[in-house]
Amino acid sequence: MESDTIDRARVREINKRRTFAIISHPDAGKTTLTEKLLLFGGAITQAGAVKSRKTDRAALSDFLSIEQERGISVSSSVMKFEYKGYEINLLDTPGHQDFSEDTYRVLTAVDCAVMIIDNAKGVEPQTRKLMEVCRMRNTPIITFINKLDREGLDPLDIFEDIEDKLQIECVPLTWPIGMGKRFKGVYNFETRELGIFTPGYTPKDDDGIMIQDLSDPRLDELIASSQADQLREDVELIKGASDPFDMSLYLSGTQTPVFFGSAINNFGVKEMLDAFVKIAPPPGIRPAQSRDVNPMESDFSGFAFKIQANMDPEHRDRIAFFRICSGKFVKGMKVKHHRIGKEIRLSNATMFMAQERSHVEEAYPGDIIGIHNHGTIKIGDTFTTKEPLTFLGIPSFAPEHFRRVLLKDPLKTKSLNKGLTQLAEEGTIQVFRPLMGNMHVIGAVGVLQFDVTMARLKAEYNVNAGYESIDLSVARWVTCEDEKMLKLFRQKNESSLALDAEGCLTFMTTSEYQLGFVMEEWPDIQFHKTREHN
Ligand code: GDP
Repeated sequence: MESDTIDRARVREINKRRTFAIISHPDAGKTTLTEKLLLFGGAITQAGAVKSRKTDRAALSDFLSIEQERGISVSSSVMKFEYKGYEINLLDTPGHQDFSEDTYRVLTAVDCAVMIIDNAKGVEPQTRKLMEVCRMRNTPIITFINKLDREGLDPLDIFEDIEDKLQIECVPLTWPIGMGKRFKGVYNFETRELGIFTPGYTPKDDDGIMIQDLSDPRLDELIASSQADQLREDVELIKGASDPFDMSLYLSGTQTPVFFGSAINNFGVKEMLDAFVKIAPPPGIRPAQSRDVNPMESDFSGFAFKIQANMDPEHRDRIAFFRICSGKFVKGMKVKHHRIGKEIRLSNATMFMAQERSHVEEAYPGDIIGIHNHGTIKIGDTFTTKEPLTFLGIPSFAPEHFRRVLLKDPLKTKSLNKGLTQLAEEGTIQVFRPLMGNMHVIGAVGVLQFDVTMARLKAEYNVNAGYESIDLSVARWVTCEDEKMLKLFRQKNESSLALDAEGCLTFMTTSEYQLGFVMEEWPDIQFHKTREHN
């Protein structure tokens, strides 16, 4: 009887969770939108509390200050807030110049994403890359078209751009009335309400003005007649041109509901958030190597998707960010750390609130907890209270930038190896050992990681090293079912092959063009852009 009640409480908690990330290109308005969401959630009380993490990349001293800045702003890596009875976890996708593999990996820990598009720019490169990652797990996407208070592209042209570049069908749930100086507000298709734009005003639940029918003459009083007519025309056009919103298509990542607004003026954000809590999925089933894991299972499980070092300059601690997938976390519980075959007690896990960290007593699937880590946790590590599991879909991503490491003091080889191994385990960089030659090649998704690596090698491992640039820009993990063929490929391409930190064979070359050439020559060899952790 008792366990039944407890289970029901747990199921209720899980169903309240919504875990998501915002994907966007720098400057589209992610920081601004985050802040407005936190204001609605009561997690912050004033604008300006969320700091943009824009940074200069160039010099090392700048980088070190970035690290310090990170130390202070780390709690914003995961922001928890409540809205209308839902427990929302917003995971930050570091995405400015410090774009890195972390940015991608955060997306493996969410159940849905909000995509921001700048209405003057349409789809930009970083959004495209992030969408590629969302595609891997068919993550549902909600779209927010931002900066309607400025002149921009025609909404239908933005739709075409999104559909073209991201292969996802747009279904507007709100529609803008004018833009720039003539921006009057949005019309909500579902509630048939008109939201009138008042710059900077924070909307409340009953602010919308009901328009039973677009022919309602009140529409002409509320907005200029010419704009009312335009809205009527637009709505007719949209109704004819776009499919209705379909929950299952959205959940499978083939359709995206679209909202329009202006984050900085807190306009259109509430419409989006209200729809978000209704349609964003609660924590779902997660595939593991041996079976699918249901969030409602009573046994605890979860995985590490991000490791952040030196967050607190005073303590030099490392925190593994851990996504709970099933069961319930209770402070002090014992879990199995399967990779190292040990039982560990989770006594000081951290939960991240908007502006602070706090010790967590209990947490549920969908929640992210921070676990202190002294180098024993690797990206992809799974903890459970029962059987060993390996969750799928927390891959390494093929690096796009490469450097050769030059050690200045040969006596430090051991420390260098140790440092690089550790940094690779944290997912800061990837380390490759070419089959020919004995210098490490390190690869990263974002170039800032190289500065991070050098600074950390010096500070934490007392290693003075430098880089040599190297003419590589593409890496692919290679596999082949036919072992003989793989052996032949290895022989013929030895100078372009390396082993990564886990001993997986990797092909590296100068350009996509060159890669295409080799792929054509070796049709039986598979070239992979991502690789699951062992
Ligand atoms: P991020 O790089 O994606 O985090 O973008 P920010 O939130 O820092 O915004 C980038 C710039 O766009 C800042 O100068 C913001 O003030 C501005 N911005 C954000 N939202 C809006 C908006 O709705 N309208 C206008 N005009 N500017 C905006």
